[in-house]
Amino acid sequence: MTVYDYGIIGGGPAGYSAAIYAAKLGKSVVLFEKDKIGGTCLNRGCIPTKTFLHRADLYMEFKAGVKKDIYRAAELGFSFEKISDEKETVCNNLRKALELVLKTMKINIVPYEASIAGSNKISANGEIYECSKIIAATGAKPREIKGLEFEGELILSSDDMLNLKQLPKKIVILGSGAIGIEWARILSAFDVDVTIAEAAPNLLPLADIEVSKRIARIFKKAGITFHTDCSVISADRVNKTVTLSNGETVETDILFVAAGRSKCNIQTTDDVTVIGDCAGEIQLAHYATCQAKNVILGIPYNKELIPSVVYGEPEIAWVGKREQDGEFKKVLLPITALGKAQCDNCTEGFIKILVEDNKIAGAHIISKEASALIQQIVIAMQNDIPVEKLKEVCFAHPTYSEGIFEGLMRL
Ligand SMILES: Cc1cc2nc3c(=O)[nH]c(=O)nc-3n(C[C@H](O)[C@H](O)[C@H](O)COP(=O)(O)OP(=O)(O)OC[C@H]3O[C@@H](n4cnc5c(N)ncnc54)[C@H](O)[C@@H]3O)c2cc1C
Repeated sequence: MTVYDYGIIGGGPAGYSAAIYAAKLGKSVVLFEKDKIGGTCLNRGCIPTKTFLHRADLYMEFKAGVKKDIYRAAELGFSFEKISDEKETVCNNLRKALELVLKTMKINIVPYEASIAGSNKISANGEIYECSKIIAATGAKPREIKGLEFEGELILSSDDMLNLKQLPKKIVILGSGAIGIEWARILSAFDVDVTIAEAAPNLLPLADIEVSKRIARIFKKAGITFHTDCSVISADRVNKTVTLSNGETVETDILFVAAGRSKCNIQTTDDVTVIGDCAGEIQLAHYATCQAKNVILGIPYNKELIPSVVYGEPEIAWVGKREQDGEFKKVLLPITALGKAQCDNCTEGFIKILVEDNKIAGAHIISKEASALIQQIVIAMQNDIPVEKLKEVCFAHPTYSEGIFEGLMRL
């Protein structure tokens, strides 16, 4: 019987990254995936949502341009069906490319549900696989709320949202974390009437308080209705209404419950390493990859320096300490100060940097390209680069990156 160096359960970012890193070291690997390689990220998460979001942003910009008579269109509209087809194509292409990488690296992919069958043993499709080391990376699934269980008609999960055949006219979104906010932006850009119910006192409750407040302002301007300190207490499938905890009843075609994700537990033994979303720590694809890198290659990561990004126009990104976490020296540069932002007509947002002992303690950015900007901050923070040293760096012009430099120069 073959004894594999690694048996990995789950083919999402945690599992496939661990498999690739191990194979690169010359280890033999068997990878079990009961559904599609790529996991939530590639098939039901990061990638499909951003494919929708990009097209929604383009449509929104085009609509604004037509209003200003910059662009001309005989008929302004979009095909949600074609956009969904494109989403499928993007996911399929990426999945095929990933499968090819895994096969080229001689990783044995077993397309069945697996379970731990004792020390160093995995069972799948009636067979036992001996593995010197076992990694469980079984991911997470949309969290259900008692009384608002998913039924695929009125009450939908993030998985259901990706299979919509047509857009609703009205939607209520329960939860304003990254998933709820991104869908609110997609749907609002496509002219859907969006209402958000958020149980916390602010939208994007994990963000810096100033970011949450600015997002509220941006959403008001975009015509997105939101209620904070508020949850959905019941849903009426017959009359298509939901009742909010503030007493309001809202008519809706869909109630999208975006209230976090529960880890997919798997029965493990002491010698099994658990990584990714099913470890129940930070549920992000890049964190899953960091954990895989750490487990296989021993490369450490700093949990405090995992960036968060919420996509859409403008992007929202942050890392490190928030304003509400302590006393910091602070600078806030409005994006409107940047030449590139004026050229792009994307002047909404700010770059906010918090400093402690002459080092960046945190940064919070609302801007086009915030996802790229935050990475520069992460590199500076991870390498303990003092603010004075960062001021010596030459930033290209005109760019959004200059905003970081401009901000630092104001400190
Ligand atoms: C709508 C949405 C948008 C998101 N957007 C982002 C984003 O923009 N950026 C970001 O960083 N993160 C995003 N995420 C989160 C990201 O998708 C997850 O953090 C990431 O996929 C976690 O990787 P994982 O490998 O731990 O789990 P998963 O990707 O969930 O993979 C686990 C895999 O294990 C398989 N599996 C489970 N049990 C078994 C078993 N017993 N046998 C065999 N196979 C099994 C599953 O089928 C699945 O394929 C998003 C999530 C959602 C839902």
